[in-house]
Amino acid sequence: EKFKELGLSTAVTNAVIDAGYTTPTDIQQKAIPHILEKRDVVGIAQTGTGKTASFVLPMLTLLEKGRARARMPRTLILEPTRELAAQVHENFEKYGKNHKLTVALLIGGVSFEEQNKKLDRGADVLIATPGRLIDHFERGRLLMTGVDVFVIDEADRMLDMGFIPDIERISSLLPKRRQTLFFSATMPDEVARLTKKFLNDPVSVET
Ligand code: AMP
Repeated sequence: EKFKELGLSTAVTNAVIDAGYTTPTDIQQKAIPHILEKRDVVGIAQTGTGKTASFVLPMLTLLEKGRARARMPRTLILEPTRELAAQVHENFEKYGKNHKLTVALLIGGVSFEEQNKKLDRGADVLIATPGRLIDHFERGRLLMTGVDVFVIDEADRMLDMGFIPDIERISSLLPKRRQTLFFSATMPDEVARLTKKFLNDPVSVET
């Protein structure tokens, strides 16, 4: 199968082809059509399978309609580490080069100032580690009520790192009517329990 057959927008398909990719990976073929249909998705996939693009590409396509308002991000992606958050940010830059979107990266260890500027401009995409996201929220820099798509990436690592209470809190601030995408390399009982809590009638895909 080819990227052109997945239902992605022309702008996204062209950016993927420019990046040198011709064939979608297994997880991309399985997940992208459901995400474009606005279904909740549980994806069991390791890093290295093309998992990141499997949510970045359809999210870019869905974001082409509408625009962000100040301090009200339209989408939120949670990552367990700064490094993973930075990688997802790079993916949005690479595949979103034909889009005029504001992408904000909220991670610890760097100043709040730059991050505040992006939030004030209106972030179409917010990529964050849980602690820094909560910091911004508590400082009143952020409203979560406009989030249409919520991504919990690397859920098993989130669990190992003790982030589940933070994620439960963040989730409680989001609109109930939203799309949730949940990725994990493994599915221990505790992670499976979270899918029941956070997702609505999800489709499961596995590589
Ligand atoms: P990830 O699983 O998201 O960490 O991606 C692993 C690597 O696969 C990254 O370096 C991507 O640039 C690359 N990649 C993503 N999609 C494709 C594709 N369709 N074909 C070839 N490589 C890809």
